[in-house]
Amino acid sequence: MPIIVQKFGGTSVATPEKIAAAARKAIRAQQDGNQVVVVVSAMGHNTDMLVDLAHQVNEEPPAREMDMLLSTGEQVSVALMAMSIHKFGYKAVSLTGAQMGIKTDSSYTKARIKTISTDRIRKLLDDGNIVIAAGFQGVDEELNITTLGRGGSDTTAVALAAVLKADACEIYTDVDGVYTTDPRLLPEARQMNLISYDEMLELASLGAGVMHNRSIEFAKKFGVPIRVRSSFSDAPGSMIVSSPESDSVGVCGAALTQDEARLTIQGVPDRPGTSFEIFKRLADRKITVDMIVQNIGQENKADISFTVPSSELKETLKAVNEAAKIVGAEGVTHDDAVAKVSVVGRGMAKQTGVAEKMFHAIAEAGINIQIITTSEIKISVIVQRNQSLAALRAVHHAFQLHQSPPDANVWDVAKHRNDSNLSLNEIVERLRSVNMEKLTLVDISMTSDQARITLSGVPDQPGLASDVFSKVASAGIFVDMIVQSYDGYQGETSISFTAPETQLDDCLNVLKKLDYKFRKISGSKDIAKLSVSGIGLRSHTSVGIGMFEALAEANINVLMINTSELRVNVVVDGRDGERGLAALQKKFSDSFL
Ligand code: ADP
Ligand code: ASP
Ligand code: MG
Repeated sequence: MPIIVQKFGGTSVATPEKIAAAARKAIRAQQDGNQVVVVVSAMGHNTDMLVDLAHQVNEEPPAREMDMLLSTGEQVSVALMAMSIHKFGYKAVSLTGAQMGIKTDSSYTKARIKTISTDRIRKLLDDGNIVIAAGFQGVDEELNITTLGRGGSDTTAVALAAVLKADACEIYTDVDGVYTTDPRLLPEARQMNLISYDEMLELASLGAGVMHNRSIEFAKKFGVPIRVRSSFSDAPGSMIVSSPESDSVGVCGAALTQDEARLTIQGVPDRPGTSFEIFKRLADRKITVDMIVQNIGQENKADISFTVPSSELKETLKAVNEAAKIVGAEGVTHDDAVAKVSVVGRGMAKQTGVAEKMFHAIAEAGINIQIITTSEIKISVIVQRNQSLAALRAVHHAFQLHQSPPDANVWDVAKHRNDSNLSLNEIVERLRSVNMEKLTLVDISMTSDQARITLSGVPDQPGLASDVFSKVASAGIFVDMIVQSYDGYQGETSISFTAPETQLDDCLNVLKKLDYKFRKISGSKDIAKLSVSGIGLRSHTSVGIGMFEALAEANINVLMINTSELRVNVVVDGRDGERGLAALQKKFSDSFL
């Protein structure tokens, strides 16, 4: 019998009436001839309330007790959902994470799933029950209750769909599907018919709260098609699958993370190992760092900037101040009034001018960009928080995201049904018995046909990046990695990017003709780019840190870094390329499927 997993979010089970409506959906699915597993979140804003309560009792609640508390929200709703189904005359059994055998690691408040045993669920399903599973929770080796991180019920649902080899995974929520950006922020956002795993994963990890990012890691790894749809209507919703909606567009969606904080460590001695010293302290605390940029300052000292979620700023500052002392840095600054605006698209790697278009739109809106980082699937910028919504709107408009792409694909269920893939089955079996959320790498590689260009002493003013990259794009130069760093003291920034080695001279000529007075324009062909590719690499903080560690041990200096969920790239001196590659291969030898 086909198995279907349905997940209902907080708003979809906020009242007894809504619980009954969700129960009816589950019963209908069972009547249609499916075995049904329902995953539920805590009612309404219950989790927020519990978090608030905890902080009233203790400003820094111990993480273990936090999970003990937060898991109760879901326990309430699974019981009520089961009761509701009974009331309609059908069989249902509710289970907590522990009861259904969801084993996680012990990182409280952001635990990762290791294994799920399906025996009990299967038995209950075979006996004709609708199984009601508590989202967002599990249990560690010592039977301590853990939670998966805010929004984690999506991850429970997709993980269950993966291990049960479900035929469908439906995420019922308070919007009709996945939009080009949060429709609550921009009413002009467009609902997409479908979106690829890669794009959804990146958008989710850059702020699109509609799906928990780690649920998409599971979906991609195990090939689970997801349908996101409204609890309150019968609209078909959006499919999250392996293929994108359009093959022609560079950008498919935009996201805003409003609660971002920037930190800068000033005057860091520029030698191998310093980044490792800093970021390992954050990785140990499982803090997800984004937009790491460094610029070479005066006298071989570098400034390193990066962003973290505002909620992690306090913890981050503790760790960073400690690291700054150890590496002999001059100081640490931070800004809690910034936000991150990002565009995402699988197509951007194949097109020129995408970055330029984004910078231009933001410049036209009169907004200054403080930091830029790009990767093959996304471009992110940091701007002042009070200008971030205007920046998002400008960017959404510039890429015409409100309009359906001319070649928009339609999801074809029939086609996908026959898509059975033996190797995928093998992967499922293997991961099921080992560690489901284990880091999964697919490739480690090196390219040495790129050159690095650095502009130092760049005036920090709106429109600069737009100007630079529009000139570079119109000369037909294919820009790859871009980083613009934050420079605290002189009101200046620096911009580095990579472009094909063969275009270096042309590129330098273009830059020299610009009207700006840069302190220095430099270019080097002698670089190598080392890339580690896989699934969920930004949220698996061990990847970035493992790269820093391996390169530090090999005494290799990292010149540039960029991260996405798909890949982490570092640029090193060309002479260090081969050695760096070998160090990375050794480091990650057991992280392949
Ligand atoms: P649930 O409680 O059902 O899990 P969430 O609040 O976690 O619901 O997620 C749904 C919300 O996600 C929507 O109300 C919407 O405001 C927000 N959202 C953010 N980005 C997007 C997007 N790109 N598409 C759709 N919704 C989005
Ligand atoms: N109840 C949890 C939260 O609010 C998990 C979830 O809803 O997905 O974060
Ligand atoms: Mg959610």
